[in-house]
Amino acid sequence: MRGQLFTAFDPGYEPARVLFNTRIRTRPAAIARCAGTADVVAALGFARDQRLPFAVKAGGHNASGLCLVQDGLVIDVGAMRSLKADPAGDPPTVTVGPGIGWRDIDRVTYLEHGLAAPGGECPTVSNAGYTLGGGYGPLTRRFGLGLDHLVAAEVVTANGVVQANDVEHPDLFWAIRGAGGAGFGVVAELTYRLNPVPGTLLTGLRAWPITKGREVFRAYRDLYHDNDDDRLALCLLLSTDPYPDGEPAISIYGLYAGPVDDGEKALASFRAIENPLYDAFEPTSYLDFGQALGAEIPYGLQSKWRGGYFRNEAFDEAAFDTMLEYFATAPSPFSMVRFDLLGGGAVGRVPFDATAFAHRGSTHYVSLISLWQEDADTPENVDWVDRFCEDLRPALTGEVYQNYADKDLADWPTAYYGAHYPRLQEVKRRYDPDNVFRHGQSIAVDR
Ligand SMILES: Cc1cc2nc3c(=O)[nH]c(=O)nc-3n(C[C@H](O)[C@H](O)[C@H](O)COP(=O)(O)OP(=O)(O)OC[C@H]3O[C@@H](n4cnc5c(N)ncnc54)[C@H](O)[C@@H]3O)c2cc1C
Repeated sequence: MRGQLFTAFDPGYEPARVLFNTRIRTRPAAIARCAGTADVVAALGFARDQRLPFAVKAGGHNASGLCLVQDGLVIDVGAMRSLKADPAGDPPTVTVGPGIGWRDIDRVTYLEHGLAAPGGECPTVSNAGYTLGGGYGPLTRRFGLGLDHLVAAEVVTANGVVQANDVEHPDLFWAIRGAGGAGFGVVAELTYRLNPVPGTLLTGLRAWPITKGREVFRAYRDLYHDNDDDRLALCLLLSTDPYPDGEPAISIYGLYAGPVDDGEKALASFRAIENPLYDAFEPTSYLDFGQALGAEIPYGLQSKWRGGYFRNEAFDEAAFDTMLEYFATAPSPFSMVRFDLLGGGAVGRVPFDATAFAHRGSTHYVSLISLWQEDADTPENVDWVDRFCEDLRPALTGEVYQNYADKDLADWPTAYYGAHYPRLQEVKRRYDPDNVFRHGQSIAVDR
């Protein structure tokens, strides 16, 4: 290998093992931090020769820890962070290694060329992990998901390295856009098409005391009801303010991907809700906004992350009450309720069968996120989020975003992939009939 190998007795092992969710205590026998595709091929060959179980890791943000394997080998692509932009191409593209995150990509494509693919909020999520399961961010409603921007990928499959795109291995290319982390191979390079994004946008955050919760929820519901202006991307958040030591608060944050004056008009219904705790919508750059969002993310916590897509007609007063009541009883001040994956707009315009991503019909996704520090606090925080999820279930479609993997889902194939699951199994049988790539929620070979 050109890269590094850490066994459990090497000093670099622990930093390479720890995930965003520190509740995951899985201990692999070794972690192969790959420097390029040849290292991935070597690590995979070694694992197969030695009959070692293996897992694929990039940014380590999978909520259920599917990127680690107990006593096995982790093929870690997080250090594969190459970037080559082609801003003059038709369309303009960027080709990147799987490990690089969106802020580092934006720093080149947006700052130097005024171009961006719709990356997510978190700077340490890898572009590959994000894209292979979906990819929602502030530009998604305007331009589509991360995976809708993927035009080619290099994949280390069980039978060798292939280029997948609309022409070469189109069935594999279809499958990895939605189920790319679920047992088809290791994606070693990704090419995205890019969109022009203005240098200045209206972006920001506005927060109110939780006593304004119903008013803000209603304004949010009304804003996205039959709204075909896909430039307005607002998320909604119940958290403490200042986080995590303050009072319960409800916030909206996001951007308007168009002229600043039009953005001000689009936000009018929220301006009308008086006495905000905090108000910081202002013209700024897409990169600065992304960096501010990333700076808010706390590391080193344990978590249990549940949720689901909302039935559009059930985003109503009863659901608002349930969410406000549960939030008021959260055992940890770190915990939050987030509407952080905004659908509609360009997400809904892509035909259902175009990719393996099955969740194009919903506008809102609710993330119920329990976050805490001490092991002694685990039972009550887990119990809180489980009860919350159960009580909210009637308002949800039953679909769950595969990138917010929930190991407690009984029927995850239906929740993640819906009607696409049988076709994913066909592709799996063609590219990995011996089920070399497998984990607790990978596509099954057998019917
Ligand atoms: C704080 C936080 C913020 C987030 N924000 C957003 C957001 O704004 N928008 C959004 O859509 N999602 C978001 N997510 C979800 C995130 O996109 C997923 O968890 C994503 O899968 C993480 O990728 P990773 O590489 O960091 O994690 P990992 O745990 O390393 O990988 C995730 C899964 O993908 C597989 N995988 C990773 N790389 C490859 C590869 N190269 N080839 C094949 N399989 C691979 C792994 O085996 C694993 O199953 C967020 C998650 C967190 C924890």
